[in-house]
Amino acid sequence: MTKFQDRLAQGGILIADGAAGTRLQNAGLPSGTAPERWNLENPDAIRALHRGYVEAGSDLILTNTFGGSRLRLEMKELGDQTHEINLTAARLAREVAGEEVLVLGDIGPTGQLMEPMGTLTYDQAVGVFAEQAGGLAEGGVDAILIETMSDLNEAKAAVEGARRATDLPILVTMSFDTHGRTMMGVKPGDAAQELWAMGVDAVGANCGRTLTENLEAIQHMREALPEATLMAKPNAGLPRMEGTDSVYDVTPEIMADYAQKFAAFDVKIFGGCCGSTPDHIHAASRVLRG
Ligand SMILES: [Zn+2]
Repeated sequence: MTKFQDRLAQGGILIADGAAGTRLQNAGLPSGTAPERWNLENPDAIRALHRGYVEAGSDLILTNTFGGSRLRLEMKELGDQTHEINLTAARLAREVAGEEVLVLGDIGPTGQLMEPMGTLTYDQAVGVFAEQAGGLAEGGVDAILIETMSDLNEAKAAVEGARRATDLPILVTMSFDTHGRTMMGVKPGDAAQELWAMGVDAVGANCGRTLTENLEAIQHMREALPEATLMAKPNAGLPRMEGTDSVYDVTPEIMADYAQKFAAFDVKIFGGCCGSTPDHIHAASRVLRG
């Protein structure tokens, strides 16, 4: 058993971290700049991001590599630094996490459409994800988290890619932001069944729109898979614009209230996505740990 699997088996809920992108923007990341660039150019800001969540009570933190696939980095002319960015991000998270807190190597979508809607082939996608997972594994992560997926085929390619690069545990969450389905029309129960059948260590929902919609997605997953290990990392609601700022109205108290509703479906890992802060995570961890 890996360290991550051992912690999962211990019972109790594991608290993940909250948003990275919105936090880094607040810390001065210029709009339009890839957050992944700061792994190399502003490592102190990344350490501070991680430290904020560790101090708030996170049992596991995500590397700052959501957009760290070569395809996504190429859009920001960072493709040549794919390996270095993932390796460095993993080391930064590991440095702050120490041995007590677990590090999840974060992998988001490539940003490209797969065949037949687009031109990205399944094999190409597997290769792209394998490269990213390889850098993360080399940097010392405890598991790979594939998240915010819309296309089930892309999620599967990511699982296969991660497996090609490493033996680490794999978690997969998709974003159900379009009338209870992903943007590509995938239903939560179907996604959970297909991904769980691949033998991953956890499946779930993240990002999305509201806490209620995320909760419904988790409910469908639980109905489809009574025994599966589930993970939820919902947004702090939908942002509204105030001038040029995105404002999230979900308070830490509301997040904590919902955390208990997610726990009622026996969610094993709970954290926040866009708009959530260390205060949200701290509030959730207080109620979930009793
Ligand atoms: Zn999000």
